Amino acid sequence: MSVTATASMIRRQIDHGICLLTFDRPESGANVFDAATMADLDQQLDAIEEDDSLEGVVILSAKKSIFIAGADLKTLLRQAQTGEMRSFIAEGQRVFNRLAALKIPTCAAIHGACAGGGYEVTLACDWRVASDDPSTRIGLPETSLGLIPAWGGCTRLPRLIGTEKAAEVILKGKLYSVRDAKGLGLIDEVVSRNQLLDAAKAKIREGKRPASSPLPQADVGEPRTTGNLAPGRAYKIITKTLGRSVEESLAMELNAISELGEIDATQNLIRNFFLAEKYKRGNSKQPVEKIAHAAVIGAGVMGSGIAQWLSSRGVSVILRDVGTEELTRGLASVEKTYADAVKRGIMTEEQAKQGRARIVASSVAIEMRDVQVVVEAASEKLEVKKQIFRDLSAKTPEAATLATNTSALSISDLAGEVKNAERVIGLHFFNPVSRMKLVEVVVGTETSDDTIARALTFVRQIAKLPVTVRDSPGFLVNRVLFPYLLEAAELFENGTSAQEIDDSLLQWGMPMGPLRLIDEIGVDITVDIANTLEKAYGKRDRASKIESQAPVSIGTKETRRLRITKSTNGASQPPSRAPLRMAEGTWQIA
Ligand code: NAD
Repeated sequence: MSVTATASMIRRQIDHGICLLTFDRPESGANVFDAATMADLDQQLDAIEEDDSLEGVVILSAKKSIFIAGADLKTLLRQAQTGEMRSFIAEGQRVFNRLAALKIPTCAAIHGACAGGGYEVTLACDWRVASDDPSTRIGLPETSLGLIPAWGGCTRLPRLIGTEKAAEVILKGKLYSVRDAKGLGLIDEVVSRNQLLDAAKAKIREGKRPASSPLPQADVGEPRTTGNLAPGRAYKIITKTLGRSVEESLAMELNAISELGEIDATQNLIRNFFLAEKYKRGNSKQPVEKIAHAAVIGAGVMGSGIAQWLSSRGVSVILRDVGTEELTRGLASVEKTYADAVKRGIMTEEQAKQGRARIVASSVAIEMRDVQVVVEAASEKLEVKKQIFRDLSAKTPEAATLATNTSALSISDLAGEVKNAERVIGLHFFNPVSRMKLVEVVVGTETSDDTIARALTFVRQIAKLPVTVRDSPGFLVNRVLFPYLLEAAELFENGTSAQEIDDSLLQWGMPMGPLRLIDEIGVDITVDIANTLEKAYGKRDRASKIESQAPVSIGTKETRRLRITKSTNGASQPPSRAPLRMAEGTWQIA
């Protein structure tokens, strides 16, 4: 193999007549497309076009877990603000068109995150092969930032996989596992990482991709209108592109993104992305120890979710509940989350196995000498939680952080039960834990700065997004969310059908209807939270009598049943969470 040229962002090598373009941004863990990288690619294409001996081009990345993360968002935001986005996008289209027009076959060998412009450059290639590594995630997330894929994404993807699937990929803005990406047709082949280059070379030997017969234009439902105009603009291009030339379609992309860039909503969505990134990193000066050992009290919906998440992030977990039955159900739920993650290609079977083995479940008191943080996730009852905190005060090392996952109860009330109240804090995870990034870090009156710093570091360590909030009823999220949920419950109580309520809100743009959300939270927990808020804020948060209604079904799937239980004495009853099958395996129930 001979190195024939070295540019600053992309390395060019010739390997038995095949040109390898390796993206390797200096002093960075990630590759992104900024103006310099685009200029580099343009120069590399000059050299490739001049070399008649080349048989093909393979594009790859030298980074550990990133192929190309997308366009440089800092550049995009600046350009959106100054109105210069048009020329940057036009230049990208021109360079990618050159790549697409090469006479020799081209293949992208994708390992690691391949998003936005990083995927669009592969769409300008004939072939796409990807590694089966869990870090390989592929998609076009532009619409979630108020933009559209305008380096050919809205034009080339419908030609590759059809209008319907392209609309799904572009309008949802998700990143897909290789398995799902292969199913959708986003990539041609999945191989192990060490076979990636060979697989790409094999594709080159197949030659240019054969022209496929023109795809019919499918009818696709128009996206719901929300404050974000990008899905609507993308939809218009995706549904028209097959009737137009590539040039016309690219011009539509260019116009749409230039206009979207000028809108406040787009600039705010991009800023919001940076704020979240900044918050994820944090700015804590003092080094705080990493958490290796934790305990979770309560193995219900939240406790099992938290235990699963912590164990998947390398933290060993003691999981406590009152009885073997509760623990068995909790562990089955942990098992299901792991199994789903493996099925979706988020982790390997081996990683799931190691994760599961980090959990020790126990219905009796066991030694907590090594525990550095406890997350209490037992029932939302003040007396139950107070008892648990009295117990923890006596049985945990004094340096351990004691956290509660309460949705609305006062952190300070619980801290009152603990000898060193400064180590008590709220860590409010959301349901389902494996999917929800946000964690409210709730600071009580006694909570020390050190405890706050530890909690923030811990939340970042487990790859969640912390937001620090004051200890007031409902904290931030539930205080904002509950008036909405309770209003929906009241409408239901007054006779509007569950279906009508949820469908209207879905239509309006919410990802899930409010009654389905109440069902996911659990009607019992919802009522407990509503009661706490009603006490604090009165009428605004009136707890609905929703639990006294007969069972109602609002959907077809088991999970879509509104678990409203009939109550004769007016007390709320816990929802009947379907018992889950306990999988064979590595659990130890003490
Ligand atoms: P859940 O009813 O599913 O689980 C509670 C578990 O705690 C049960 O398994 C119960 O047996 C156990 N428990 C009760 N007393 C205990 C004790 N003394 N020691 C050990 N375990 C005990 O409830 P959930 O939905 O998981 O909620 C748990 C906590 O998380 C509550 O404080 C709730 O407000 C909060 N929360 C819930 C959600 C949600 O969407 N469900 C979201 C965020 C926070």
